[in-house]
Amino acid sequence: MRLSSLVRPNILALKAYSSARDEYQSTEDVTLLDANENPYESNYNRYPDPYQRELKSQISELKGVDTNCIFLGNGSDEAIDLIFRIFCEPTLDNIIIPDPTYGMYEVSAAIQNIEVRRVPLSQNFELKTDDILAATDIRSKVLFLCNPNNPTGNLLDKNSIKELLERFNGIVVIDEAYVDFSNSDSFTNELDQYDNLIVLQTFSKAWGLAGLRLGMAFCSEEIIKLFNKVKAPYNLSISTQRLALDLLRETKASTEANIKSIIESREYVRQELGKMDIIDKIYDSESNFLLVKFKNHETAYNQLKFSKLIVRDRSKALNCNGCLRITIGTPKENENLIKTLKAL
Ligand SMILES: *Cc1c(COP(=O)(O)O)cnc(C)c1O
Repeated sequence: MRLSSLVRPNILALKAYSSARDEYQSTEDVTLLDANENPYESNYNRYPDPYQRELKSQISELKGVDTNCIFLGNGSDEAIDLIFRIFCEPTLDNIIIPDPTYGMYEVSAAIQNIEVRRVPLSQNFELKTDDILAATDIRSKVLFLCNPNNPTGNLLDKNSIKELLERFNGIVVIDEAYVDFSNSDSFTNELDQYDNLIVLQTFSKAWGLAGLRLGMAFCSEEIIKLFNKVKAPYNLSISTQRLALDLLRETKASTEANIKSIIESREYVRQELGKMDIIDKIYDSESNFLLVKFKNHETAYNQLKFSKLIVRDRSKALNCNGCLRITIGTPKENENLIKTLKAL
């Protein structure tokens, strides 16, 4: 696959904004009169490192991915938006998404005026690779696969994903926001095999840092260069970069413990909800939420709301009629949920 044939011509031709600071690896022992900053020292008087080198080197160790193959953004939603702006020509190109899946791909597509082709997952929320390939044409630039999938919670079949990576003549984005709660290895291990692969991960879920806004994209160096060209020069603040560095060092062990207890709680909640006859089905989950089909989801939703328990109504998503998506909380929050539903 020739990457250049997938990139928007104006982006290929784009000369990135360059700051004098780009040329210096280190800003020690030099006098900085290049960026119209305020010279009086404070924690924030200087612009941040545009390429977040220190943070990337730590994330590189954590994830086992080369620093040159990492993009960091203001949440993975920034990476999603940039993927559209790099590859998709407004009003001409299209993207493919399985249905149901994460809603942000469609929102970003709509913002850029890009056609979305939704291809239904099977009743069990498995990929139908032939249907996906049949939906593509020469203007199909990106296929988004959310794995484990949101809102269904399941892992997609690994061989089906590989087949799509091989047969689709475009970019395949694998959004692994929930991979740390799953039994699956990350597709970052496959980056050497596929030059059309972009893996997204985030610190918002397993790491408990949704408020920080820090997401990652892993892909070939060639695609990273495109991200760097199109992103805002200083897209991550000094405070985000410093806080993330500290938190990654200090909270690695407690994050692993949290993930383990969320997975245990997920299985406990599944077992308890499984005993209730107001519930038709609980779908397999490799994430930190359960998709639950109720006999009467409106009654359940309203009762939960009345008890100040907020869950997500996904009943209008394809093949999700009657379904609520329930995030796994603390043991106390989970007990509260179970108690409230038992009282129905
Ligand atoms: C929560 C979630 C994200 C996270 O987005 P951030 O912008 O990093 O907070 C990404 N993808 C999916 C599928 C999600 O559910």
